[in-house]
Amino acid sequence: MRKKIVAGNWKCNTTVQGGLELAKDVMAKVAESGDPEVQVVVCPPFVHITGVVSIVDGNQVKVGAQNCAAEPKGAFTGEVSAEMVKSTGADYVILGHSERREYYADNSAVLNKKLALALANGLTPIYCCGEPLAIREAGTQNEYVKKQFEETIFQLSEEDFRKLVIAYEPIWAIGTGKTASSAQAQEMHAFLRSAIAEKFGDEVAQATSILYGGSCNASNAKELFANPDVDGGLIGGASLDAVSFLAIVNGFRA
Ligand code: PEP
Repeated sequence: MRKKIVAGNWKCNTTVQGGLELAKDVMAKVAESGDPEVQVVVCPPFVHITGVVSIVDGNQVKVGAQNCAAEPKGAFTGEVSAEMVKSTGADYVILGHSERREYYADNSAVLNKKLALALANGLTPIYCCGEPLAIREAGTQNEYVKKQFEETIFQLSEEDFRKLVIAYEPIWAIGTGKTASSAQAQEMHAFLRSAIAEKFGDEVAQATSILYGGSCNASNAKELFANPDVDGGLIGGASLDAVSFLAIVNGFRA
């Protein structure tokens, strides 16, 4: 059975103090009412990670970074390496988020370096993919996202591919309040699973968690998560409030 995962991407929000409070609240709510079948992950800014790792119970809440460097170490001022992320006790790293692709030139070549370093350091990449609005309007979203796979994660060995979590995040739905419909999400997730099956076989495809991201919130999570190919969510805005985040975590419950 593939893992159900709900991961919070805090982006560039919260001070260290505010982030630790949020982590404490998330931890308390997961302990009190979390769904034991769902792996909860929080991805704070780098400078919060060590503190957040020390606050949460790693059996119930995992921690991830939002990025890592494309180089292992050295004279790269301001960068944070995959090895450093791992040394904090974090387990996950978001790679290929559309904001990184758009504002920080994380193209396929850069992403391949980051993926290799994340995997070599024992981190689980949450690999993001998704199309812009113009592509969705042209109806070529499947080809667009498949090409993203072909240029990056389809170049991994099967052994490494099995370590990934995928997040489908249509760019037009991120932070816009405009969620993909449940049918649109299911259609894309099923397509991606079939593309994975074609590449690595059905057993690998069935074992790969594919999360949905893009204005997922407490009111639409249940419907989105009810789809057979939606294995959870990558949550931006709604992960900054422990109550709404937990309502999403519990969106798998009947
Ligand atoms: C995200 O950026 O990963 C995301 C899904 O953001 P939001 O939930 O705010 O749309």
